[in-house]
Amino acid sequence: MDYDDSATAQELRDRAREFMDEVVLPKERANAAGSVSQETIDELREQAREYDVYAPQISEEHGGMGIALRDVLPLFEEAGRSLLGAPAMRVDAPDEGNMHTLELVGTAAQKEEWLDPLVAGEIRSGFAMTEPAPGGGSDPKMLRTTAEKEDGEWVIDGHKWWTTQGSAADVLLVMARTDEEAHPYAGCSIILVPTDAEGVEIVRDIPHLGQDLMPESHAEIRFDGVCVPEENLLGEENEGFTVAQQRLGPARLTHCMRFSGMADRALDVAKAYMNEREAFGSSLADKQAQRFAIAEAETRLHAARTMVRDAATKLDAGDEARVEVSMSKVFAANVAQETIDLAIQCCGGAGISRDLPLADFYDAVRAFRIVDGADEVHKRTIARAVFEDTDSAEIEAVPRFDG
Ligand SMILES: Cc1cc2nc3c(=O)[nH]c(=O)nc-3n(C[C@H](O)[C@H](O)[C@H](O)COP(=O)(O)OP(=O)(O)OC[C@H]3O[C@@H](n4cnc5c(N)ncnc54)[C@H](O)[C@@H]3O)c2cc1C
Repeated sequence: MDYDDSATAQELRDRAREFMDEVVLPKERANAAGSVSQETIDELREQAREYDVYAPQISEEHGGMGIALRDVLPLFEEAGRSLLGAPAMRVDAPDEGNMHTLELVGTAAQKEEWLDPLVAGEIRSGFAMTEPAPGGGSDPKMLRTTAEKEDGEWVIDGHKWWTTQGSAADVLLVMARTDEEAHPYAGCSIILVPTDAEGVEIVRDIPHLGQDLMPESHAEIRFDGVCVPEENLLGEENEGFTVAQQRLGPARLTHCMRFSGMADRALDVAKAYMNEREAFGSSLADKQAQRFAIAEAETRLHAARTMVRDAATKLDAGDEARVEVSMSKVFAANVAQETIDLAIQCCGGAGISRDLPLADFYDAVRAFRIVDGADEVHKRTIARAVFEDTDSAEIEAVPRFDG
């Protein structure tokens, strides 16, 4: 499917496709679930540099290629075609979003200490916002972690969970309440916390759905009187949610693109299987029920990819595009999940096996309807916007059927 991607975006996508086909997919097929080591990722990263597809979203000054969000998105789609693609090209969550935040609002010293080594793949990071009950989850206004200024330091107390990569991270971006009096959205800040700081306790990695090719950890973490210097504040004090929004908008779209790429490959795998396999006297690809199901999936995937591009164009133009981002996130997540499920169904038993990549994809995709805001939270954002646009005159004009 052709999109109105710029020449830069198309060239980058073509190089990424080459890298995926020639390097990443063979490596993926040679590895069983949960078996990919850091050494393998490091080797892939070396090769990504040779293909000129390494960290394209980061400025050249900090070790990337300086390409704008809208132009880099098609590469994210290519990266999503394998679970190894994003870490290989250094466009992997959560580091990708954290690098973006550091680049956007970090001080020169913070960039030198954290951003440059993150881009180089020398260190890892986590974003610690979500808390177990009664703390903040879907409703971040319920956040309970606090950071108080004392003698030139932030003293942090709190309890987080689901911090992706938290147990392996060198630094955490911790969202904490810094002004108890202010409205919750105006009284929180993001603070950079090295994981070796005294009082940081990794309670556990949460056992979770899936044991895919690239096993991810999600940590529960306690902060007990953790002290870090005042200059570890990331962005303005009490502006944590504004900063988080700047992180989450693009990060949600990059997630959408990775999962769109995953769904696209799932369809390729399914179509290849259906072309080769026969049942009841003809190829599976000739059964009209299956053809309609694939046609429907292709249509919905095209719609998702188009929506993400539209939202990205608006973000690049400086618009917050909250509604467009929410629409893209909720739609793309559901389309990706349904498409991968369909691809498995079309492949029968082979779909469940790990001989094909579909089982890994299935494991990975389910969380997407919850991470970065559950479906319902995004629908709430969309509904609030559309209802506020409906003025009472229009409501009165709606015909009533009282009988
Ligand atoms: C794999 C994975 C990785 C994650 N990584 C990170 C991370 O790196 N950093 C981080 O901070 N967090 C992370 N999270 C946490 C994630 O952002 C939260 O799980 C998510 O925001 C939902 O919060 P919650 O789990 O507290 O759900 P709850 O707030 O308990 O909500 C439960 C469910 O209620 C429903 N719901 C919520 N609000 C409404 C509403 N208004 N109307 C109707 N229904 C509603 C939704 O279906 C939701 O799934 C991760 C989660 C997962 C599963």
